[in-house]
Amino acid sequence: MKPMIVAGNWKMYKLIDEAGKLATQLKKQLSKIKPAVTPVVCPPFTALAEVASIIKGSRLLLGGQDMHWETQGAYTGEVSAAMLKDAGCACVIIGHSERRQYFGETDATVNKKVHAALKVGLKPIMCVGETEAQREQGQTEAVIVRQVEGGLNDVAVDQFAQVIVAYEPVWAIGTGKNATPGQAQEVHALIRRLVRDRFKAATASDLPILYGGSVKPENALELFLQPDINGGLIGGASLTADSFVQIVRAGEAAVS
Ligand code: PEP
Repeated sequence: MKPMIVAGNWKMYKLIDEAGKLATQLKKQLSKIKPAVTPVVCPPFTALAEVASIIKGSRLLLGGQDMHWETQGAYTGEVSAAMLKDAGCACVIIGHSERRQYFGETDATVNKKVHAALKVGLKPIMCVGETEAQREQGQTEAVIVRQVEGGLNDVAVDQFAQVIVAYEPVWAIGTGKNATPGQAQEVHALIRRLVRDRFKAATASDLPILYGGSVKPENALELFLQPDINGGLIGGASLTADSFVQIVRAGEAAVS
C-alpha cells in the first residue's frame, strides 16, 4: 500500500487559543483514522507547544513551517531543528514557495536545512514547484530537476527513508487553480524517477510525494488516486476541521 500523508500548513494564521480549538477538533474527528494515513498539522511557532500538548497520544503528527540550518547561535528570530524537535515536531516544511518568494530561500539554503533536519531526526517536507511563467515557457521539468537535485544534494541513500517531498506549483497555491491530476502525476513521476535514478535511493518507490496547491475536499480524491501522489500539503483548506478532515478521509479512500 502506498504511503499517504495529509499535512496542514496553517501558515501565519491562528492565535494560540484558536490553534488549540482546531487541534482539539481534529484530534476528536481523526481518532479512528486508518493507520495507512498520517495526518500532520504545522501551526505557527507560537502555537506549537499548545498543539503538541493537545495532540499528544493521538495519530496526528506535529510539524514546523521553517527552521534555520545552524544548531544554535546569534540568529535573531530563527529556530533550530533541535528546537522544533524539542517542541514536539516530527517533521518540518522546508523551502515553501512563500519562503522562496518573500524571504530569499534558495536551493542552497533548502539543502542546508534538509541536512540539519535529518541530523536531529526531523523529517523534512521539502517543497518544489514552478511558477506560472516557468510552466508557460516549458521550463517545468528543468525547474523541478534543479530544485530536487539542489535541495537533496548529498543526502545519503539511507536517509531517503526520512525524506518527504511536496510538489507545489506556485501558480496553484492559494489561487483556487489546482493542477489537474494528470499534470500533477507527471511531475510526481519525474521526482520519483530522479530520486531513484540520480540519487540511487532504494526507497524511491516509497518516497512520500505530496501534492500542494488549492487542494479541497472536492478535488482531493482524484489527485490522491494518482499512482505517484502520496497525499497533500494543504494550506487554506487546513484551517477548518471540517475541510481538513474531509481531505484526510479522501486520503483514506485513496488507499483502501
Ligand atoms: C500551501 O501553502 O502549501 C498550499 C498548498 O496552499 P493552498 O492549499 O491554500 O493552495
